[in-house]
Formats: sequence, structure tokens, C-alpha cells
Amino acid sequence: MSESISIATLAKRFDLERCRHCGACSQACPSAKAGGVLPDAVVDSVLREEEPEGIWDCLLCHRCMAACPVDIDIVMLMTRLRHRSALAGEAPDRFRRTGGILIREGRGFPTSRRVETQRKSLGLEPLLSSEKAQKEMEIIIARTRFAHD
Ligand code: SF4
Ligand code: SF4
Repeated sequence: MSESISIATLAKRFDLERCRHCGACSQACPSAKAGGVLPDAVVDSVLREEEPEGIWDCLLCHRCMAACPVDIDIVMLMTRLRHRSALAGEAPDRFRRTGGILIREGRGFPTSRRVETQRKSLGLEPLLSSEKAQKEMEIIIARTRFAHD
């Protein structure tokens, strides 16, 4: 069963005291350029044991990590913070909608007649639901409490 993790524990687990506050991560971040998340501010907030802002605007693109001189695992930190936020019922609607599709169809996007027609015209196989994949997804969803409300 998945339990929420405290901010203080995350700061320790990711050894955020190593942060040099150089701002290289935010300079490299495409989301920050578009007014989204500032990864250095997220790290600072976690170090201060405060709730960080903008975590749901992260693109999980890893550019911040490539820029970080001390190899802080910012992407996994973002992921853990999102998990924590989701457990608190704070996941944005757009992520909830995608989650709903994943639960229902076993994939993160819905299929439709139009999609299937386009796939056929491109010579691609139809996106048939796989019973095995669906069952595996059900197990993952149950173990991770992905579908909890
Ligand atoms: S992984 Fe997130 S925080 Fe890092 S550069 Fe990409 S969008 Fe920015
Ligand atoms: S790049 Fe690394 S060391 Fe620099 S502010 Fe970001 S997390 Fe801290």
C-alpha cells in the first residue's frame, strides 16, 4: 500500500543539501521558459520543508538533470512530489482525465473510429485492447493505489 511521504523525508532521501543554488536547472528548463515550474525553486521549497509550486507543469524532460553539477535527481523528485500531491487529491483535472482513460482502456489515450481509420490508411495495425495488458494494468493500479479517490 502506498503512503504519502513527508517533505522532510524527500529532502533527506534526495540529499538536497548538496544543491549549490546555481540556478542551472531552471535556466535549462523549457517549462520555466514558458512560465511553468522553476526546478531550483522546487528544490529550495523542499529544503525549507514547504510545499513546492508548479510540480504539475514539469515535462519530465530531464534537461534540468543534465545541467545540474551535483546530479540531483530532479525528475524523480518531481515524480515523488506529484505522487504525494495525487494522494492528497490535488492532481489537476487534465491528469485525472488521462488517468481515467488509462484505467478504462489500459493506455494513456483513447482510441476512436477516426484514429483507427487513420491508422489503417497509414498501414498500421489497429489499436486492439489486450486482455493481458488490461489485467496487468489492473494489478499495477491496485498496487500503486493509482485509482484511489
Ligand atoms: S524535467 Fe521538468 S523541471 Fe526538469 S527541465 Fe524538464 S520540465 Fe524542467
Ligand atoms: S542545477 Fe542542481 S545544484 Fe544548481 S540549483 Fe539546480 S538542483 Fe541545485
